Amino acid sequence: MDRTQLLNKLWEFQHRLGYISKESISTLSKKLNVSTVEIESVVSFYHFFHKKPTGKHTIYLNNSIISDLKGFEDVKATFEKETGCSFGEYGNKEFSLFETSCIGMSDQEPAALINFQPFTDLTPSKVRNIIQKIKNGENVKDFSSKTISKIHYTPDDDKTVIFRNYELGKSVKEGLKFTPQEIIDKIYKSKLKGCGGAFFDVGYKWQSCKRNEDTEKYIICNADEGEPGTFKDRAIFQHLPGLVIEGMILAGYATGAKEGIIYLRAEYQYFKQKLEDLIQEFYTQNLLGKNIQSIDGFDFEIRIQLGAGSYVCGAASALIESMQGRRGEPPVRMWSATKHGFKHKPTVVNNVESLAYASRIIELGEDYFLSMGTKETPGTKLISISGDVAKAGIYEIEYGTSIRELLGIEMAQATAPYYVQVSGPSGECVSPAEFDRKICMEDILCGGSFMVFNRTRDILHILRNFMEFFKEESCGVCTPCRAGNFILNEKVKKMQRGLASQDDVDEIKKWGKIIKLSSRCGLGKSSPNSLIFSIDKFKDYYNLKIAPSNEFQNVEFDMEAAIHEFDSIIKDTQL
Ligand code: SF4
Repeated sequence: MDRTQLLNKLWEFQHRLGYISKESISTLSKKLNVSTVEIESVVSFYHFFHKKPTGKHTIYLNNSIISDLKGFEDVKATFEKETGCSFGEYGNKEFSLFETSCIGMSDQEPAALINFQPFTDLTPSKVRNIIQKIKNGENVKDFSSKTISKIHYTPDDDKTVIFRNYELGKSVKEGLKFTPQEIIDKIYKSKLKGCGGAFFDVGYKWQSCKRNEDTEKYIICNADEGEPGTFKDRAIFQHLPGLVIEGMILAGYATGAKEGIIYLRAEYQYFKQKLEDLIQEFYTQNLLGKNIQSIDGFDFEIRIQLGAGSYVCGAASALIESMQGRRGEPPVRMWSATKHGFKHKPTVVNNVESLAYASRIIELGEDYFLSMGTKETPGTKLISISGDVAKAGIYEIEYGTSIRELLGIEMAQATAPYYVQVSGPSGECVSPAEFDRKICMEDILCGGSFMVFNRTRDILHILRNFMEFFKEESCGVCTPCRAGNFILNEKVKKMQRGLASQDDVDEIKKWGKIIKLSSRCGLGKSSPNSLIFSIDKFKDYYNLKIAPSNEFQNVEFDMEAAIHEFDSIIKDTQL
């Protein structure tokens, strides 16, 4: 057993005992020849590993902004009342309650995971019913929500690329008619961009991995979508998981990799068995295994690696660290994964949606894909729409579709939209003056999260939720991100209390610049975006919130409380 098995082993203990004991850590330390201190540091990094015993039923309630506006507080209070426990504490033998960030259910909030089974559209009466059933001895698996998400196409259903009829093995069989280089050429020509948010050229990654002469290579499917408001990968796993597996097989064929790994976010572990059964079906049909489809020497295996709860692991470099049994911190020195990836071998890391698109492009032909979208971003994109809309769900839109169209009667049917957050908290907010902007490379890109807020929502309340999220999810290795996000959050709180002046706004902008310039990874580089953009885009709103300089110079800011909170964050993030 090597260290890459560490997360799996920790999960075994977590599931079996309800926590990871000192004895479990000591056993693993001997087996893996890794110090207990190091293993403890890994355990403390991930949200879903616990060092103290949890109750028989562990409840994770999503505290994202969408959950908040759909009734989070009432649901939370009911869970506490019915279980007799408080959130954030280890509770009693039966229940432990924790808040958690987005669990990929923004179309059905408030939502929770109970023993990692999904429960959606929660209301106080639903919660009472669920807790009563648990107390009666019913198994949560038997009455969990089915998470059937509505999938909507563009107004023109014929233009869907992803959500067509699926025939197991069709993309692979089509693809194997071509040489590996021809496959890469097709993906290259299609201009397919990574759909996880980085928009890196997929064909370039595959080509770069293929060129590497090393014989040990890997294909990793990044199934760790964690940007609040995104749930498109969940919909793909729900409806078309085979398309993702076929994308991995094609990537293996094209690059010469023989092993594929699906890094599945812990929040989606209710898909694990279904995926494993499907992978088995692929082996049965000789679409995985040795000499696939009788092609001599074309061998490809796929396994699943479960994550353990960490937003920052969605970044490829941190994800690879996590797969190697380490804390999911982005390394100081960033190598291209196609040169030094998993186990320091050439590795392609592609998101779930990108792999699904790669399969369809090979099946339908790159020209079909190129016939849609814009010059720089051909094709379509899946967008998860949530918030103040009548029809929340997944929309497959053609690149070049405007924000106004997404909000309109033929699509999400937003109600008095005022503040729209494109690409989640790390993306960009847009005001009504920008609703004609188009989703594409040439204008505004969207990784998948599209959250809509109407005029009754308070902008600072939204931003406070985002800043709390970043503060919580910062891995803490770089000071500008760790301390800077704390400071920005304090500034937002000050504005909410009506105590902020223009000096605070200037400081927010200065801190934002420092955090963006000196943070190591995407979290820090993007965390100040929404706050800073909003100040410039919603001037009328901020004019009402910000007093002229020195009006509050005599108001005491509770610096001692702020320092105390900051100290406790630093303690939590230290090894
Ligand atoms: Fe960690 Fe933040 Fe630094 Fe990224 S920017 S490595 S999340 S501290």
